[in-house]
Amino acid sequence: MDFSLSPQEARIEADARAFAREVLAPRIAETDLGAFPFESLREAGRRGLLGVKIPQQYGGLGASMVAHCSVIRELSSVCPSTTVALAVSNMVADMVLAFGSEAQKASYLKPLCSGDLVVGAFALSEAGAGSDAASLRTRAVKANRGGVDGYVLDGSKMWITSGDVAGLVLVMAKTDPSVGARGITAFLVDKGTPGFEVGRHEEKLGLRGSSTVSLSFTDLFVPESQRLGPEGAGFSVAMTALDGGRCGIGAQALGMGRSALEACAKHVERRKAADRAQGTEQLTQFRIADMAVKLEAAWWMVLRAASLKDAGKKMSREAAMAKVMGSEAANDVCRMAMELAGAAGLDRTSPIARAFRDVRVSRIYEGTSEVQRLVIARSLVQP
Ligand SMILES: Cc1cc2nc3c(=O)[nH]c(=O)nc-3n(C[C@H](O)[C@H](O)[C@H](O)COP(=O)(O)OP(=O)(O)OC[C@H]3O[C@@H](n4cnc5c(N)ncnc54)[C@H](O)[C@@H]3O)c2cc1C
Repeated sequence: MDFSLSPQEARIEADARAFAREVLAPRIAETDLGAFPFESLREAGRRGLLGVKIPQQYGGLGASMVAHCSVIRELSSVCPSTTVALAVSNMVADMVLAFGSEAQKASYLKPLCSGDLVVGAFALSEAGAGSDAASLRTRAVKANRGGVDGYVLDGSKMWITSGDVAGLVLVMAKTDPSVGARGITAFLVDKGTPGFEVGRHEEKLGLRGSSTVSLSFTDLFVPESQRLGPEGAGFSVAMTALDGGRCGIGAQALGMGRSALEACAKHVERRKAADRAQGTEQLTQFRIADMAVKLEAAWWMVLRAASLKDAGKKMSREAAMAKVMGSEAANDVCRMAMELAGAAGLDRTSPIARAFRDVRVSRIYEGTSEVQRLVIARSLVQP
């Protein structure tokens, strides 16, 4: 099995590394204090990184899922906050490409890829519907307004990444509450649509430069042309998005793990006790080796899931495995780096402390570790 990057993938990965070094690294302190990275995302758009998998005719790079994961890992090793906004936006663009009409692709893909819409947001979760997303309560009821057929949306969403800044929000709502997940429909909602309101901004432990908000929709009218895919196909849109997204979260977590490992290795090289560098102690070396093994093993799982997606194969189980493995390995590595760094790890501005705070959420969003285990187990144990 050959998992080496193609020349195009290797070039895109190198471009992402350069973007992270030139654009993200100089702004990391302000982003970590909560400044939303508007300028970095604009530059990401100029470099094609807001549409890695979108064909060039629609303004993207026309690359693979493997390239996408490589980009996410590179960016996240420097600024996970910017990365999460960029990753969700790529996911929204991917869904417009996969499920959109020609008119929807023509209206939305170029502005999403260029950053003209700032980013896209994905609104599935609600206060009472996190892990059990199918129990969402936002309603979409058929209506005719001013002679235009469409739907009226009412309800609220919670924990929506970039929900306040996004020019386009992909919203899941129930058109038929009597049939559970089969009654969910996806809608493309433009920023500024009457009835769209941004609520509370979450004060998070980590990923502080990423904006996470609640949204509410009151008597919000969307024409039928804004429905993404057929009525009732919304859950399948969401799950397709999450299969890709979960590989991406694995990659994102591993980027953070890598930055913690690199910072930790530098620290133990320099740190001396009784005239011996901490890094020459066998216990330290074993831990460093264990950290590297965890990250490498998980990265191969991300690549495997991504390459199945590129081959057009079903990969829900492998994506769940890549997310569990990637996020848990990275959480372990960040914790081990904190331990090896001693008091230095508590410096809030150190890359180790930042990764330790930022990485926690990778076990939660796009399905918690427990939910991934359910996905994996259900593919093996039939009821
Ligand atoms: C920073 C951040 C950004 C986010 N961005 C977005 C976004 O852009 N769009 C969006 O739609 N959502 C977003 N989310 C929401 C995220 O997807 C949910 O938080 C996640 O799905 C978990 O839901 P919950 O928080 O309601 O936890 P709950 O569902 O309440 O779960 C609580 C605990 O119970 C466990 N649990 C739940 N059900 C089971 C079960 N059946 N078996 C075993 N254990 C179970 C969970 O694993 C977890 O440990 C974001 C969340 C965060 C924190």
